[in-house]
Amino acid sequence: MLPETSQTPPTDLRGLSRDQLSALVARLGEKPFRARQLFAWLHGRGARSLDEMTDLSRALRERLASETHLTTLAIDETQLSNDGTRKFRFRTEDSHFVEAVFLPEDDRRTLCVSTQVGCPMGCAFCRTARSGLTRNLTTSEILAQVYEVNRAIAALGVEGKRPLTNLVFMGMGEPFLNFDNLLAALALLQDDAGLNFSRRHITVSTSGIVPMIERFGALTENKLAVSLNASSDAQREALMPVNRRYPLAELLAACRRFPLRQGRRITFEYVLLDEINDSMDDARRVARLLRGIEAKVNLIPYNESPGLPFRSVPIERAERFRDLLLGQGLVAVIRKNRGRDILAACGQLAAKGSEGLSSTSSVVEDDLD
Ligand code: SAH
Ligand code: SF4
Repeated sequence: MLPETSQTPPTDLRGLSRDQLSALVARLGEKPFRARQLFAWLHGRGARSLDEMTDLSRALRERLASETHLTTLAIDETQLSNDGTRKFRFRTEDSHFVEAVFLPEDDRRTLCVSTQVGCPMGCAFCRTARSGLTRNLTTSEILAQVYEVNRAIAALGVEGKRPLTNLVFMGMGEPFLNFDNLLAALALLQDDAGLNFSRRHITVSTSGIVPMIERFGALTENKLAVSLNASSDAQREALMPVNRRYPLAELLAACRRFPLRQGRRITFEYVLLDEINDSMDDARRVARLLRGIEAKVNLIPYNESPGLPFRSVPIERAERFRDLLLGQGLVAVIRKNRGRDILAACGQLAAKGSEGLSSTSSVVEDDLD
């Protein structure tokens, strides 16, 4: 008889907090330092399997193998852009695809991470929206994107134990709809026995789920990015259904209350859409909306997507928009368009090959410092 006592899936070791891992190791009758060893394998070295953990006894590894699980997130395909951007497509154990994008730039090596398979938010311009939501990623799957890419780029010769320096949660999905798994992943990524990311080097982007902005501010010290994308409620409602539930006044009030550390700003992403939200009047309204907020506006050139009616704007118009914001005392930059040749630039990792593939679309940004 198998000692199986319940129908719940086995515990995923990678998703356990430090305390949960210690409790598991204690329950197995092992000394506390075994939990530290296990943690270092899982989160410091990004181990894929118990077999790698050669300094743990075979007996312990066998017990762990019979009672727990270590989810595999296999790199299914990678694509390299001529600007160095590298797109990784992963296959989940249940055969969905998610993507993460590596954006190297000088000393900064940023990974754009996904939090859901698909996205339920329905933004009109976004490729990911078209597939709807398939499911949340687990904590373990969120982490595995980081650990797998870290290994891959280490193998490519980028020096150091922690080749990635920055993370942005701007891939597929709405991070604040997968809040518990996101927070668990952040804690593990920031653990000094793990990859020890600094809080200010991790940014989470939301379409504007107001109550979660407050919780995020209360529970973390990470950076916040908000997808504004419009200068009035009418315009934003047409582009982002979330605005019906949380209109601009509520969204910006939550941003005003957001606890910012000294010198930090909230990033507002603004995808420039030709003839839709790109006029000088729009720029003036954006400046008015953001008055009194420590804000940085990232103007994002739109990545056109087959089947979607939106067009990107000429660079001169983006520059005029930026200059108007600068003239109003705001910090504003035009985001560089990365990985365009491999469809890995901001906001679009287009589905490739058969339409039948699970969502392979995603959203990518540079880091936001
Ligand atoms: N769901 C979260 C995080 C992922 S989307 C959010 O919406 O904030 C990350 C960013 O990509 C958003 O600011 C979104 O407006 C932008 N984006 C989506 N599709 C895009 C596209 N085709 N071109 C450029 N940016 C896009
Ligand atoms: Fe989801 Fe963000 Fe795309 Fe909107 S822009 S559909 S919230 S991934």
